[in-house]
Amino acid sequence: MIPEIEKASREEIRDFQEEKLKETLHYLKENSPFYKRFFSANDIDISEIQTLEDILKLPLTTKDHLQRFNDEFLCVQKSQIIDYVTTSGTLGEPVTFALTDADLERLAYNEAISFACCGVTQDDTLQLMTTMDRRFMAGLAYFLGARRLGAGIIRVGSGIPELQWDSIRKFNPTYLITVPSFLLKLIEYAKQQRIDINKTSVKAAICIGEPIREQDFSFNVLAKRIKKDWDIELFSTYASTEMSTAFNECEWHNGGHHHPELLIAEILDENHMPVPEGEVGELTVTTIGVEAMPLLRFKTGDMVRAHPGPCNCGRNTLRLGPVVGRKKQMIKYKGTTLYPPAMYNILNDFAKVESYVIEIFHNELGTDEILIKIASEDASEELLQDIKDHFRAKLRVAPKVEFDSPEAIEAVRFPSLSRKPIDLIDHR
Ligand SMILES: [Zn+2]
Repeated sequence: MIPEIEKASREEIRDFQEEKLKETLHYLKENSPFYKRFFSANDIDISEIQTLEDILKLPLTTKDHLQRFNDEFLCVQKSQIIDYVTTSGTLGEPVTFALTDADLERLAYNEAISFACCGVTQDDTLQLMTTMDRRFMAGLAYFLGARRLGAGIIRVGSGIPELQWDSIRKFNPTYLITVPSFLLKLIEYAKQQRIDINKTSVKAAICIGEPIREQDFSFNVLAKRIKKDWDIELFSTYASTEMSTAFNECEWHNGGHHHPELLIAEILDENHMPVPEGEVGELTVTTIGVEAMPLLRFKTGDMVRAHPGPCNCGRNTLRLGPVVGRKKQMIKYKGTTLYPPAMYNILNDFAKVESYVIEIFHNELGTDEILIKIASEDASEELLQDIKDHFRAKLRVAPKVEFDSPEAIEAVRFPSLSRKPIDLIDHR
């Protein structure tokens, strides 16, 4: 099930998107209080926007805009809204997204073609290991996508390995939809219970929320750990509430496929110009076909690399590599641009490193400094040297690394009000 437009040539896809861009601009000018004001404040005449290159003349929408003018983004009457979701904002308060009936249809279509990308058909059964409520969009999208595709779905929700295994044995799902690190918990439980993990119905996991690949599409440390015990196919995905669109890998596993009927994607440099093909930049999106809260040139804050060119699966749409990092967390260190995930990957490679925390701060010259504190039974010079050599080999630079007690690091990583461990402290 590949939509015709995704098999079309690059030129046909561009022409198609240009039409969709014009439709979107007319819709925003008619219906969006925010964009009406934004266009007139920026002196924008939308009739001048004819090609995809012209999109550069349009202003950018930031997370800050969404937070400050949240209600003004709404293009429909309250009576048309079916579903309300929230996403974390820039100033602490969550940002609200509303969906109409048509938006829920669009979401179902998006997830159905994204599942199909991962090889899911109506003969498959999916086990949903993430929550469907709590004002999240994702869980609902998975349910709607499975229904549209005609696939079965078991809504187990997050956590509880015992219940997950009970469902796997009762209903024989073929795909799991899960945060990949949770698969390690399932493996651990299976070992305790002497479940033969490689003799179940499960053939693949659709991995959400965490990366499983390096920039060259090889498995990262987390994925390798999973594959060591559990020989299932792992599919990487990338999505967000703001985009209401997913980028899922196909069976060739070389990046998440873009769906040109749902989103216009730009990869921009620091000056908001397109990066040269294949370079890392900030993903900036314009939603297509969204009714309640469409977004124009929304800066996602995610730094990614796009891979153009046809894919062996038959799709000609561009593919996104794993997220390199958050733009806010970009570190300029000794002339090299770094992102925390690359450093986590290196540290996770060392079995001797029990825990760590990375601190980023400005030195007296105003440039970025990195200090990595690690806890290890083997607090030796050799280990420090080994870690630094690894950093130099992989990232070309070696930050400061020092030992600290496990207690001191745990205290920093798990402050009393945080639900998730903190790996990075950014003092900048
Ligand atoms: Zn493909």
